[in-house]
Amino acid sequence: MSGLAREHGAINLGQGFPDGNGPDDVRAAAARALEDRPNQYPPMMGLPELRRAVAEHARRFYRIDVDGEREVMVTAGATEAVAACLFGLLDPGDEAVLFEPLYDSYLPLVERAGAIGRRVRLEPPGWRVDRDALAAAFSPRTKLVVLNTPMNPTGKVFTDEELAAIAELAIAHDAFVVCDEVYEHLVFDGRQHRPLLGFPGMRERTARIGSAGKTFSLTGWKVGYVTAAMDMLLPIARAHQFLTFTTPPNLQAAVAYGLGKADDYFAGLAENMQAGRDRLRAGLERLGFAVADCQGTYFLTADIRSVGFSGSDLEFCTAIAREARVAAIPYSAFYADRPPVGQVRFAFCKPAPILDEAIARLGTWLERRPAPPRH
Ligand code: PMP
Repeated sequence: MSGLAREHGAINLGQGFPDGNGPDDVRAAAARALEDRPNQYPPMMGLPELRRAVAEHARRFYRIDVDGEREVMVTAGATEAVAACLFGLLDPGDEAVLFEPLYDSYLPLVERAGAIGRRVRLEPPGWRVDRDALAAAFSPRTKLVVLNTPMNPTGKVFTDEELAAIAELAIAHDAFVVCDEVYEHLVFDGRQHRPLLGFPGMRERTARIGSAGKTFSLTGWKVGYVTAAMDMLLPIARAHQFLTFTTPPNLQAAVAYGLGKADDYFAGLAENMQAGRDRLRAGLERLGFAVADCQGTYFLTADIRSVGFSGSDLEFCTAIAREARVAAIPYSAFYADRPPVGQVRFAFCKPAPILDEAIARLGTWLERRPAPPRH
């Protein structure tokens, strides 16, 4: 869809990246470190100052005690962190429980590790976890669960009750949980993000993944971090050793600085993004789209049937990229099979004039379309 967007000069509300250039002071810290500090391999586990900053951030935001020296590892973005967790923890024949819709890398990585993905389907518009379906996905071969909250693409924040159910089943099956929490600071309407790592009985079996890409709107940097108990982190670190080994030291130093920024930075990030959500949602609703509830992330889900589009989600996204010059992502990309009908994902991590222009283009396109056949 990004390729199609480029080809047609479309506004790209498909891929989730913010249009700005990240905070000036964080970029300046990276530039200073590039000039003044070593540019050779940093320690495999990451710069000590960043590992301390990740630990301090966990204490500050979630009251979770973390030993930065032993329980934090820096990775090449959350993408590598997920890969290192799955390659480090899974053996061939193991099973991994995944929630569908799926962030794109999870299932291919599970399968590449020789393991089997057991998918638990969530359905629009509520995306609620059915406890029985979740329990049925576990077996004696379950090695781990992959959890993404706040969740891409749905914008769902897992409830405390859902998190407790996952914890209970993971403990009962002696399974790990790999928590992709890259959107931890992008939760809306006064909600608080709750890491599963802090739940009773989960400290030794949970890996928590964060990303500077999302927390500082610097998606090109690819600086991620994993927090896990030492015994769990060890095999993850072994996988990381042969995946990327290290991450650019100047970017690590800048992220260490950024994680120490005052609370108003983090609050402002969520406020800005919430304003984008509200703006895009109001625009889509004015055009007649039914839009699902969105509690966090960069993404809104719209139902294309509500504007009379009877084709597939892929046909819709292809048509709007070409004809309206607005790109979105079809939900069929996030399901291994039987995707829910007529759902598309729009990113709202863009400046207001861009969102307004996208709505205007979609409005013109909808007006010019032939009326749907009457029954
Ligand atoms: N996990 C999720 C759920 C994401 O949405 C993204 C970014 N699209 C990533 C991981 C990748 O993060 P990073 O850029 O830090 O590798």
